Amino acid sequence: MNKRVVNFSAGPSTLPLSILEQAQQDLVNWKGKGLSVMEMSHRSKEFVSIYEHAEQQLRKIANIPEDYDVLFLQGGASLQFSMVPLNLSLNGAPVDLINTGSWTKKALKEISKVSKVNVVASTEDANFLSLPEIDSIQFSENAAYTYMCSNNTIFGTQFKSFPKTVAPLVVDMSSDILSRRLNISDFGVIFAGAQKNIGPSGLTIVIIRKDLMERSNSENPSMLQYKIHSDNTSMYNTPPTFGIYMAGLMFDWIDEQGGLEVIEHKNELKAKILYDAIDSNEMFYCPVAHADRSNMNVVFRVQGNHVELEDTFMKEAKEAGLTELKGHRSVGGLRASIYNAQSHENVTALVEFMDTFSKKHS
Ligand SMILES: *Cc1c(COP(=O)(O)O)cnc(C)c1O
Repeated sequence: MNKRVVNFSAGPSTLPLSILEQAQQDLVNWKGKGLSVMEMSHRSKEFVSIYEHAEQQLRKIANIPEDYDVLFLQGGASLQFSMVPLNLSLNGAPVDLINTGSWTKKALKEISKVSKVNVVASTEDANFLSLPEIDSIQFSENAAYTYMCSNNTIFGTQFKSFPKTVAPLVVDMSSDILSRRLNISDFGVIFAGAQKNIGPSGLTIVIIRKDLMERSNSENPSMLQYKIHSDNTSMYNTPPTFGIYMAGLMFDWIDEQGGLEVIEHKNELKAKILYDAIDSNEMFYCPVAHADRSNMNVVFRVQGNHVELEDTFMKEAKEAGLTELKGHRSVGGLRASIYNAQSHENVTALVEFMDTFSKKHS
């Protein structure tokens, strides 16, 4: 095959072709320096310039205030499930958690090892196919922090707004970071594995309000302390250098597109076309509550949860060059992930395929 597929994978996910080509061009000999980014010392002036550029671009596009630090770490979003409680817990104070799916359940498991957790809202009874009403949540008075996930990659739900909590708000944004404009000052910590909406796996981005690092407990392993990473500009040890380079290219790409305002509009439009196609076609339905539907992960099914027809759908889609449309193994069905890098054209191709498929098989 010498043609690229249209890849709807939930993560690692598709990247803009221009970025891959740039990386290809740079791969053997970065900017005429005679070596690749992978081979550079992380302390070299070349790599430091790549690092500083990536951080500056991220700060620019996400509009990150000075009182926030940006850390480029490893261990995936899953390590943050442990790092957050190890760094932010306060003696005796509970953690408020909004339970909206598998990722918050995994976080809950790790937070519970360190502090008491109040699950202040949960949609588990609705199989996580909707989100709790933010305004009706009762938060604890003395919580160390409030924990939530902005976009539930597996169930296809996404918060359209965030609670105003007294305690710092910690949000797993792995699957919708940089997909829309946000006011960073509303958050205590934002973290994300890079492989959904930024670049290669192996890089984890943490945006943290600086004062929160003072909570750090120096008894904890050094590699698990935000403060140590921050004091060492994410170079306490060797950072994921190639991932940081790729992330920098992605931040440039977002900037060139016109920044998050343009990206947000594009994402809304792509999602609308796809949800409209699902809602208007008698063969398919979206199981997610209308107001809570994700602009990133579009979950859908064939009416009657017809597994055989869903399998045929994936098989024929693949033959048409549309891949990775399988729902998460824990929920089944179909899912199209349409992160920033997924083009309008690709979404239209899927919509056209759905139309053809439903006519053929109805
Ligand atoms: C993918 C994902 C994770 C897990 O990320 P890893 O980098 O594999 O640890 C956590 N949270 C959300 C919302 C995700 O989409």
